Amino acid sequence: MSGFTLVELVIVVGVIGLLATIMVPSYLNYLNAAKRTSCICNLVLIERSKDQFMVDSGGVTSTVPTWVDILPYIKNGADSLYCPAAPLSLRTYSNCYRINQAGTDPVCLMRPVQDGLPAHSLRFRPR
Ligand SMILES: [Zn+2]
Repeated sequence: MSGFTLVELVIVVGVIGLLATIMVPSYLNYLNAAKRTSCICNLVLIERSKDQFMVDSGGVTSTVPTWVDILPYIKNGADSLYCPAAPLSLRTYSNCYRINQAGTDPVCLMRPVQDGLPAHSLRFRPR
């Protein structure tokens, strides 16, 4: 007679459950880290575009550039310029980011502080 006994099935289900218990939190941490990295890349892009606009316009540091000012400097357009941690309905550059004045870092407005990970900020970018 072939087939699995109930004990064998319970052991297999238990092992799968144990592996899932270990792997799911780890996967979520990697997912959040990837979102943070992507968001920081967007912040760097906004900062560089803002700097380029300031150079080209001869602006002073009290100038507050607008999206209209810096979007021409974003090579691939602003369609993919959103925080990946934002809900789908809020995934636009103006919902996700504030440019701030020249000399001040742009910020992510989604404030994704969760699971002990730092907020999306240029302070955490690799140097
Ligand atoms: Zn973000």
